[in-house]
Amino acid sequence: MKIAIYPGSFDPITNGHLDIILRASKLFDKIYVCIAKNSSKQSFFSLEERVKMVEIATQDFENVEVISTDDLIVNVAKKLNATAIVRGLRAVTDFEYEFQLAAANEYIDQNIEMVFLMASLSKSFISSSSIKEFFTYNVDVSSLVPNIVIEMYNSKQKK
Ligand code: ADP
Repeated sequence: MKIAIYPGSFDPITNGHLDIILRASKLFDKIYVCIAKNSSKQSFFSLEERVKMVEIATQDFENVEVISTDDLIVNVAKKLNATAIVRGLRAVTDFEYEFQLAAANEYIDQNIEMVFLMASLSKSFISSSSIKEFFTYNVDVSSLVPNIVIEMYNSKQKK
């Protein structure tokens, strides 16, 4: 059984992330979407909100499971018997960061492969930070994120 882990902040999950999850779910028998607690990075959505959004957005995928962690991704991968860490690549700007991350992961454990999937052209401009900015300026994001993200943003505003 080929198991992979797809780690990220998912603050919030976007259609770009979902596209990577869809494609990875065809390549692997099981995908764990692993949400980083990120104590160093201040997130807009809480960990609980991010987990809930990803769970709802991926509920139709039978081989996708959502987990969260504050551990090193390589350690999480080992515990889950995952042999691959999936990441998405958008522009060359992603490459620099991902290249460094891959080298660091290789230093820690040579048995886990990083697998990079190219963003679909139509989704390559979507990032969680642009979504948060669009929310601030009331830009319609309905074609960029799953509905649950908009619902949770709206209910957060009402609080
Ligand atoms: P991180 O803080 O770990 O970068 P993100 O949630 O921002 O977490 O991204 C998780 C992964 O998804 C990264 O590999 C990122 O490059 C990828 N990703 C983000 N947006 C897109 C997109 N629109 N298309 C493809 N991959 C993406």
